[in-house]
Amino acid sequence: MSIIAVLIETTENSVKPANFGVLTAARNTGVDEIYGFVTGADAQMCKDDLAKYGVEKIISIEAEGTDLTRKPDLQAKAIIAALQHYDVTALVGLSSSLGKDIMARIAAQLGASLALDCLSIDFQGRTVRKPYFAGKTIATLKLNGDYFLCGIRANSIEPVEAKTNAEIISFQANVGDDDAYMITEVKKNDSGKVDLSEANVIVAGGRPVASADHFQMLEKCAAVMNGAVGASRVPVDEGHASHSIQVGQTGKIVNPRLYIACGISGSIQHYAGMKTSKVIVAINSDKDAPILGKCDYGIIGDIFEVIPALTAELSK
Ligand SMILES: Cc1cc2nc3c(=O)[nH]c(=O)nc-3n(C[C@H](O)[C@H](O)[C@H](O)COP(=O)(O)OP(=O)(O)OC[C@H]3O[C@@H](n4cnc5c(N)ncnc54)[C@H](O)[C@@H]3O)c2cc1C
Repeated sequence: MSIIAVLIETTENSVKPANFGVLTAARNTGVDEIYGFVTGADAQMCKDDLAKYGVEKIISIEAEGTDLTRKPDLQAKAIIAALQHYDVTALVGLSSSLGKDIMARIAAQLGASLALDCLSIDFQGRTVRKPYFAGKTIATLKLNGDYFLCGIRANSIEPVEAKTNAEIISFQANVGDDDAYMITEVKKNDSGKVDLSEANVIVAGGRPVASADHFQMLEKCAAVMNGAVGASRVPVDEGHASHSIQVGQTGKIVNPRLYIACGISGSIQHYAGMKTSKVIVAINSDKDAPILGKCDYGIIGDIFEVIPALTAELSK
């Protein structure tokens, strides 16, 4: 029987919605069963969501006396122990900061190859598709070896519901406690804002968005759509926005359903970070701006007029 385990990421009280596309990707491979690997979260809390997206077994991975989420090497060990216990050789997760960290540790401990930032996976053919050269080309990679490990870019696969009963199984891993280091503090983004790399809607500002007040205008527009605010490198370099919201080659790669580029010219470095957005809307005062040749909908106008009008209209 073929099985794919999916590494489930959670917030304090819910399953991150970006997991649902990963579960759909796993299911689309024609695999017999999907296992949801949950560490450091209440499996019962995850049950309804995981049952909705095709998880047959929720494996709640714990190690007595150890907070696995604080000890990523031990967490990787515990996940490997679960893979081996259930005889599973395929593990997919989100290509998020957390996913990249933990999957890399798992791959290193197993001596297995790992593909991150994948757009799709073919478990039977042992291949994945992923972008290279700032998104200019999409490569198909074959993963050789005993394990099939990959991280999928958030929002690259449309979630499709597939109802199951999702049985919860508790797995106690014996991983010891001799980890070299542990996470002592996690500084949470307490703004309650949507994470950029998982957002369905992003309203991003470029050079003319040049103050906190200007960003506030974008925040208001994004909030109406439960979206997040992004930025090109210029406002970040000029100190108006944090690097954590920079989109592009040296910032975040994002993949929302809707990307609204506000006063962004469309340099290749910026485009590399948002080109896979499902729908791109550009608002620009220059009708010859390159972004207007790369978007689905272009609005030629001043962002300081268009965005408040858009926000007011959406608020209705
Ligand atoms: C190695 C390297 C890595 C880089 N990495 C990144 C990266 O990760 N992300 C990134 O974004 N950039 C990156 N850059 C920088 C990139 O080359 C561009 O300089 C940058 O993206 C330009 O940002 P911008 O579009 O906001 O500014 P500009 O190119 O200056 O464009 C501003 C746009 O706003 C329009 N505009 C002005 N006023 C208004 C208004 N009131 N209303 C409507 N439109 C208006 C203008 O017509 C113009 O099109 C990188 C560069 C290098 C060399």
